[in-house]
Amino acid sequence: GPALLFVKTSQGTEEGRRFYACSACRDRKDCNFFQWEDEKVSETRLAAREEYNRSHQPFFTHRQNVDRYKNFVLLPLSKRRFCRECQQLLLPAEWEKHSDHQFLCDITPAQLKSPSQLLYPLENKKTNAQYLFADRSCQFLLNLLTGLGFRRVLSVGTPRLHEMIQSKASQEEFNVRSLLLDIDFRYSQFYTEDEFCHYNMFNHHFFGGEAARETCRKFLCEENGERIIMVTDPPFGGLVEALASSFKKLMAMWRETEKEGHDNREMPMFWIFPYFFESRILDFFPSFSMMDYQVDYDNHALYKHGKTGRKQSPVRIFTNLTPSMIVLPEEEGYRFCTVCQRYVSSGNQHCEICNSCTSKDGRRWKHCVLCKKCVKPSWFHCDNCKCCTLQKHSCEKSDSGCFVCGKAGHKRSACPSLSRS
Ligand code: SAH
Ligand code: ZN
Ligand code: ZN
Ligand code: ZN
Ligand code: ZN
Repeated sequence: GPALLFVKTSQGTEEGRRFYACSACRDRKDCNFFQWEDEKVSETRLAAREEYNRSHQPFFTHRQNVDRYKNFVLLPLSKRRFCRECQQLLLPAEWEKHSDHQFLCDITPAQLKSPSQLLYPLENKKTNAQYLFADRSCQFLLNLLTGLGFRRVLSVGTPRLHEMIQSKASQEEFNVRSLLLDIDFRYSQFYTEDEFCHYNMFNHHFFGGEAARETCRKFLCEENGERIIMVTDPPFGGLVEALASSFKKLMAMWRETEKEGHDNREMPMFWIFPYFFESRILDFFPSFSMMDYQVDYDNHALYKHGKTGRKQSPVRIFTNLTPSMIVLPEEEGYRFCTVCQRYVSSGNQHCEICNSCTSKDGRRWKHCVLCKKCVKPSWFHCDNCKCCTLQKHSCEKSDSGCFVCGKAGHKRSACPSLSRS
């Protein structure tokens, strides 16, 4: 889809040179598209680009994959193979071609219902960053949104939530529906065009064109009073403004489906993201608030729940729903603060001076009278810097801190808060 317009600023100068680069790949190794804004591109280069794009299309279209799936499920168990190298369901006629590849045999209906277990996670940090919800967190999210009365879920980059909904809906009386929007085209092997759209959340691009866009628009129509919520868990290295711009477009799509208009209401949303992005998200969505719930991941050694993982997860739920409605599990150590009117971590003490439960990371924070705010327990007030910070720091004010965590000394690409297992 369309590239994004970036700006290269050189030190000291206000104005920078603008250029286009790939929206989805933040690493030039994954996609080397680069073009100065004012650059003239020759016909030959355009043609070469088109040729490159053509030759990098997926081998099968979504439609073909849907047909293949229909044939696949007709096969007896003994003939159901999945190529691990190509990440592809194989039909018997194709075995030969994959004969020197590793494959899985006897693919069961249960495996087909949980593709996120069958496919390997694309952990490639800068592009896909596929970190799958731990079962407990996924179950919690689903219970939460059904408890709130939602019957439709727009799953944007949340394949595991989507699959949990799909598989429940097929087994029992469970009337919740989900549409998955994700850039990972491997999922087109398991879901029809009404269940999955190949989508780029950094530029709001539907790879399936107008038909796919229409599928999404239809899904957003709340027929029979089925209320919808969007749940998204984007790669944490992604640009917040690009994501926010796409999410606003999805919200606008929802608003336009309603004939009487939704007035000024916003489409309900859960945006799952690390707590240190709070101010960035609130810049774009002032109606959002951050919940204390710690979202846990399976394939993420660091971001696991306190008791089992080494570190507490920094990942939270941002929502435009009224905080008091988001009930967090007491058995996992959350309690209701009657003053703040929201559930908080048990360690999150209500500060009388700030008049709020101020901890962001679940630990008890302490109030600094000089900073006039609560700070991390490990911080001290430095008289030189005139603010609270780690005891071990070099006393120099740098105004060009890291874009992600705000700390000085590193760029966003090297931010330790983003480093994963
Ligand atoms: N925790 C979620 C997965 C989040 S990982 C779950 O368990 O369901 C981030 C997801 O966003 C992955 O599924 C990845 O494929 C998808 N993704 C990454 N870049 C994307 C993009 N540019 N557009 C749409 N989806 C993207
Ligand atoms: Zn293969
Ligand atoms: Zn409180
Ligand atoms: Zn202080
Ligand atoms: Zn200092």
